[in-house]
Amino acid sequence: MSATAEQYFPLVVPATSLLLGLALLAGWRSLRDHRYLLWLAAGYICTAFPLAAQILMDNARLATWSVLTGALYCAGSWATAQGFALRSGGRVPVPAALAISLLTLFALFCFSRLSDVLGARIVFLNLGMGLLLALALPALFGREQPDTLFERLLSRTYLLLVAYAILRPLLAWLLAGWFTSSGLPRSGLWLWMLAFNLLLNLWLLFLLLGGLAQQLMGELRHERNHDPLTLLLNRRAFFEIANQRLQHDPANHWALLACDVDHFKQVNDTWGHAAGDNVLRQVGVLLQQMTRPGDLVARFGGEEFVLLLRCADLATAARVAERIRAGISEMHCSPAKQTITASFGVTMVAATDDLESALERADLAVYQAKREGRNRVIASPSQGGTDSIHLIHHSSL
Ligand code: GH3
Ligand code: MG
Ligand code: MG
Repeated sequence: MSATAEQYFPLVVPATSLLLGLALLAGWRSLRDHRYLLWLAAGYICTAFPLAAQILMDNARLATWSVLTGALYCAGSWATAQGFALRSGGRVPVPAALAISLLTLFALFCFSRLSDVLGARIVFLNLGMGLLLALALPALFGREQPDTLFERLLSRTYLLLVAYAILRPLLAWLLAGWFTSSGLPRSGLWLWMLAFNLLLNLWLLFLLLGGLAQQLMGELRHERNHDPLTLLLNRRAFFEIANQRLQHDPANHWALLACDVDHFKQVNDTWGHAAGDNVLRQVGVLLQQMTRPGDLVARFGGEEFVLLLRCADLATAARVAERIRAGISEMHCSPAKQTITASFGVTMVAATDDLESALERADLAVYQAKREGRNRVIASPSQGGTDSIHLIHHSSL
C-alpha cells in the first residue's frame, strides 16, 4: 500500500460509523416510538467526524482543534449512553453528563493550549468518554431487564465497551510506552485499537438489531394472537393453543365453556358504546381472575367469550361456570353501579378432533340458556344432541 493509501485507509472506520448512524436514523424513521434509535444514530454520526479529523490531521493541528473534536466525541458518547439507557427504560442524568463533558473539555483545553501534552489529552478524552458511556450502566443492569441471551450479551458487551474506553490509554501505554507526539495516531497500535473499537461496535449493533427484531416479532405475534380491547386470546390463537394443549396433554380432562353477555345491545344503547367496551374489559379481567393460570380465556368476537379449562368432569366444569356467572352478575358495570348478566354453555372436550364439535355443543347450550331466560348455565354431555342438554343452574333476572 502506498503511503497515501495507508494514511487514508483508516478512514474506513469513521465512514462505517457514519453509515451505521445513517442506517439507525433510517430505522428510527419507520419505528418512531423506538426513540433510542435516534440517540444511537446521533452517537455514531457525532463520533464519525472527530475520528476522521484525527486520521487526516497532523499532531499540531490536532492540538489546535482538540477542544472541538473532544466536544464531538463527548456528544457522541453522551448520545450513545442516552440511547442505551432509553432502550432499557432509563435516562442518562444530565448534570452528571454535563459535568463529565465540561471537565473533559477543560482538561483538553489545558493540555493543548496551555501546554501541549498529547498523552494527557488521550487519557482525559478516553476517561471522559468512558465515564459518559458508564452513565447508562444502571439502566442496562437494572432489575427490570428481560433475562434473554440477547439482553445478557448486549449488557456485557456494553460493559466491555465502557471498560475498553477507560482502559484504552493504559493499554496503549503498556503496549507502546508513553505516547510520543510524532506518532500514536499513525502507529500500528492505533490502527489495531480503531479496528477493535469498530468490531466491538458492530457486534453491539448486531445484538441490538437482533434484540429489536426479536422484540418486534414478539409484538407482532402478540397482536396476531390477542384481542386489542380485552387483551385476551383471539379465536385463531385459542384454537392454535387449545389444540396444542389437547395434543400434549391427552390424559387430562378438558372442559369448554362458552359465555355470551345478555342483552349487550341494550348496554351499548343505554350506557353508550365506550361504557360497553369497558364492560367487555371488566368481563375479560374477571374471567382471568376466576380461572387458573393454565386455563385459556379468549374473546371470540362481540360479547362472546370461550374458555378451555382443565376440569375433572362436566359437573365440576358447570360449577366453575356457575361461579363465574355469579361473579359477573355481581360486577358493578356503570357509574350507577348497575349490573349485567351472562349465559353459559359447558361441555367436555373428548379429544383434539372434538374441539370444533365441542364448540358447537357449547354454543347450542348458550342458545338454550338464552331461550330459557338467560343468566344461567347449561351443560351439554359430550355425546348426544341438543335434546340431551341439561339445565344445571337457573336464576331469574
Ligand atoms: P343476547 O342476550 O341475546 O345475547 O342479546 P345481545 O344484545 O347481547 O346480543 P346481540 O347479538 O343482539 O348484540 C350484541 C351487541 O354487541 C351488538 C354489538 O353492537 C355489540 N358489540 C359487538 N362488539 C362490540 C364491541 O367491541 N364493543 C361494544 N361496546 N359493543 C360491541
Ligand atoms: Mg349477547
Ligand atoms: Mg352474542
